[in-house]
Amino acid sequence: MSCKIDYQARPDLLAGRVILVTGAGDGIGRAAALSYAHHGATVILLGRTINKLEAVYDAIEAAGGPQPAIFPLNFEGATLKDYHDMAETLDKEFGRLDGILHNASLLGRLTPFDQYNPELWEQVMQVNINGPIWMTQALLPLLKASDDASVVFTSSSVGRKGRAFWGAYAVSKAATENFSEMLADELENVSAIRVNTLNPGATRTQMRKTAYPAEDPQRLRTPDDIMPTYLWLMGPDSHGHSGERFDAQPPKA
Ligand code: NDP
Repeated sequence: MSCKIDYQARPDLLAGRVILVTGAGDGIGRAAALSYAHHGATVILLGRTINKLEAVYDAIEAAGGPQPAIFPLNFEGATLKDYHDMAETLDKEFGRLDGILHNASLLGRLTPFDQYNPELWEQVMQVNINGPIWMTQALLPLLKASDDASVVFTSSSVGRKGRAFWGAYAVSKAATENFSEMLADELENVSAIRVNTLNPGATRTQMRKTAYPAEDPQRLRTPDDIMPTYLWLMGPDSHGHSGERFDAQPPKA
């Protein structure tokens, strides 16, 4: 597991690339969408809250980035048809996809397993793993049409080692790591698609605040601080890496 926090992306790192970011309206996804656009990518902003996506769209345009696209989608209710319709739309519009940052996630509740609500469990698994998996399947032909595609799944330290009370969130992240490795292995040697997982580490966002309400957010890195690894993994400098687990910030001493 390695971390590229000192990576310095050149300004045109992602020029000409079409990159889909899920959960692009807030937190880390918002920062990634802005950062990818700043480095030249045409970003497809996917999320469930349209006004947040519109604000990111406006910020990209105001900064002079390539015109982004908004794709409203809620993983909770999305169906296979939605993913295939999406693939058709993106095919018509762009003809290929050079990257996906799977970032959208639900925390669910931190609670002892014997009190975990089964409906909430299903909801978290749907948003964090099942939806992203079937969306990826529908988008594979578009990724295969790229010369150099990077698929990045977002993990968490609780996905690497189970921790009390983290319930479906931890299980969904463990599944994410395994799925990513499985897909990377399948695609190796038969495509130009690399698939990796990235653990952002403790980052100042709403999700972190919900999980750790007593923590002082000022002591945490911001989404912008952790962008170097997000850029490295999405761009050509991570070529040759697939099926690996990365960290966006160094482990605590
Ligand atoms: P936030 O809660 O700030 O952002 C999550 C994003 O996912 C939001 O844009 C949210 O949309 C979107 N989202 C949630 N549910 C759905 C849904 N059903 N359909 C579509 N989009 C949805 O979280 P972070 O930025 O902190 O987290 C980003 C990623 O990083 C997640 O995968 C998380 O698990 C991971 N992570 C974060 C850590 C941290 O310390 N922050 C640590 C370890 C991992 P909306 O804004 O509309 O609610």
